[in-house]
Amino acid sequence: MKNILIAGAGHGGLVAAIHFAKQGYSVKLYEKRVRAELGYDWHDAVPRRLFDGAGLPEPPEGTFLPPERMAYFSTAKKIKLYPDVDPTFAMIDRKVLIEYLFTLAEESGVELLFEREILSAVCEGDRVTGLRVRCAGETETVFADLVVDAAGMDSPVRRSLPARFGIEKELKNSDIFYGWRGYFEKTGEGASDPPYIVYFFHCGKPGMDWMITGEEFMDVLVGGFGGLTQEQVDASVNDFKKEYPYMGDKLLRGGYFARIPLRGHAPVFVANGYAAVGDSAFMTEPLSGSGIGLSMGSGRRLADTVIASDGDTSVGVLWQYNRDCIRKDAERYYFDLILKNFLSSLCAADIDFFFEKHIMTAKEMGERGKYSAKEILEKANVLRKPKLMPSLVSVAGKVASLGGVKAALPEEYDPQKVRAWVAKYNKTFR
Ligand SMILES: Cc1cc2nc3c(=O)[nH]c(=O)nc-3n(C[C@H](O)[C@H](O)[C@H](O)COP(=O)(O)OP(=O)(O)OC[C@H]3O[C@@H](n4cnc5c(N)ncnc54)[C@H](O)[C@@H]3O)c2cc1C
Repeated sequence: MKNILIAGAGHGGLVAAIHFAKQGYSVKLYEKRVRAELGYDWHDAVPRRLFDGAGLPEPPEGTFLPPERMAYFSTAKKIKLYPDVDPTFAMIDRKVLIEYLFTLAEESGVELLFEREILSAVCEGDRVTGLRVRCAGETETVFADLVVDAAGMDSPVRRSLPARFGIEKELKNSDIFYGWRGYFEKTGEGASDPPYIVYFFHCGKPGMDWMITGEEFMDVLVGGFGGLTQEQVDASVNDFKKEYPYMGDKLLRGGYFARIPLRGHAPVFVANGYAAVGDSAFMTEPLSGSGIGLSMGSGRRLADTVIASDGDTSVGVLWQYNRDCIRKDAERYYFDLILKNFLSSLCAADIDFFFEKHIMTAKEMGERGKYSAKEILEKANVLRKPKLMPSLVSVAGKVASLGGVKAALPEEYDPQKVRAWVAKYNKTFR
């Protein structure tokens, strides 16, 4: 029987664990925190087909809530853009979601081990063979045929891998979205139009905030690119209190900092005996930061790939999983990744200029990823803003190179070909 270790209770790791266990593999999951602490204390947007995509049974009726109508506000709060609500998405309580996955995992025979802190991977030659784990002050080494890294963006497993595996260990600070989220008490009647409003450069901070006015609470996100201080959070919250007089002081849920990787998929996230899923391989949508669907989908894809190969966990087989995630997920967001890198280089006045000149409209904010290099240059020409020209020309060049990046992705694992493709990938997206 093959042994699988899941590092961290990330969503993709739980999905992979469930599928492996159902096929009779021995699966142990190590998570550093206690069960009740897991899952963010708020609701997030997920694809409605989340469970279908992960090959899991649907949760009970009422688990999904409808998404809110939304708008983007220009930084000067003068223009609002109203994109269409995406009917393929729904809201889900993160605590309900993670508990549902734990229940399925237990029913499938996964051994869930909480309060076990993973310290590092164990490697022998060119293979990952296990994990070093600390529990109640004692350190032990556990071995397996496959380590599934589901420990999130700061994974100690990924960070401890030898450089020769070619797996990126660290994110640039500018590729991290720093967020603070909390639900405040709603103390009176009132609602904004629409209920969900996104603010860029709110209170002068480079980043994005939102306010969602619910029936019973006000959901506040304060976010910054590359960093966020308590002072910035306080400034945004105070400004929201002025704008929304029915927002009270009392925090009902959340009220803490969290981070999101906005790098796009790592190009390589497999080695002999090792595969990363979800945030540990930076699998989020670059503009929205959504990663739950991608994480759960990757967990299923990994399990399917290994099971179809009779439990072979060599890098050649795991590369098929890596390649499929790039082709079916990452490539969908290639344009967004270039756009995100460009947008994060803009100042508040540039964003307002784009809103005012109708370069950014509800259409662009709603359905992205459709401009050719030629169309970008045409937009740039309309702008006649010399300061922005070099970066827009660079954006157009990167968009023109996307076909080459896609075509160069190796079908089979060949270290030299993989290295050449990674160089192309990083030239376009870093
Ligand atoms: C404010 C905010 C809003 C978001 N909104 C959305 C949204 O609307 N939609 C969406 O799809 N996504 C959203 N995301 C992103 C989403 O949270 C992640 O993409 C998603 O959780 C997938 O990550 P994961 O499951 O791979 O890893 P994680 O959720 O990071 O899980 C990693 C697990 O590993 C454990 N772990 C870490 N280190 C160790 C260790 N040393 N030993 C043992 N265990 C360890 C952690 O405790 C954790 O349980 C949001 C994130 C934030 C912060």
